[in-house]
Amino acid sequence: MKPHQLASLLAQKFPQLYPDAHCELLYSNPLELLVATILSAQCTDVRVNQVTPALFQRCKTVEDYASISQQELETIVHSTGFFRNKATAIRKTAAALLEKHAGKIPQSLAELSALPGVGRKTANVVLSNVFEIHEGVVVDTHVGRLSQRLGLTRHHQPVKIEQDLMKLFPQKNWGILSHWLILHGRRRCYARKPDCIECELRLICPSKDLVKK
Ligand code: SF4
Repeated sequence: MKPHQLASLLAQKFPQLYPDAHCELLYSNPLELLVATILSAQCTDVRVNQVTPALFQRCKTVEDYASISQQELETIVHSTGFFRNKATAIRKTAAALLEKHAGKIPQSLAELSALPGVGRKTANVVLSNVFEIHEGVVVDTHVGRLSQRLGLTRHHQPVKIEQDLMKLFPQKNWGILSHWLILHGRRRCYARKPDCIECELRLICPSKDLVKK
């Protein structure tokens, strides 16, 4: 099956499989999602969601993030891992938001991804989930692995995987696509020992024999 045919089938199948697919990070405004997404690097959403209630209570505005001390922020976000880098990224991002965007979260991929500590993936998460602006596809490790196994890409670099996905799926699906793939990666298509035998995509997946009966 050709990749665009597979993509078309997946766009029909995934909404039935995962009708409630959504961003699993907890947030109530764009700033909170931006911060939570920075913290989610190399960390589970569950762990981030354990940390952010106290952080969001302490820091409610961009000014709060720009003025909190490095030490205090590191202490709050410690359990998410890479806490020094993450605290630095959050504080620098807040300073840049104040300096260049009057404290507002910009609504374009170019402006968001230009912020220190905010890469293309984080920018896509915020744009897609908060503003419903789909300029790209979020590619994390689940999305990359699933895209390769499903034959949607041959690439390993996130930016190239993203370009392939953008060619195969209509723009209206770019936001939800990463949620579908992440959920399927968590529930069936594990990094090690994917559950191909029980997988709902078995009949259309070119890698279905990763685990043989
Ligand atoms: S059949 Fe196996 S490799 Fe293909 S999507 Fe399902 S779990 Fe992943």
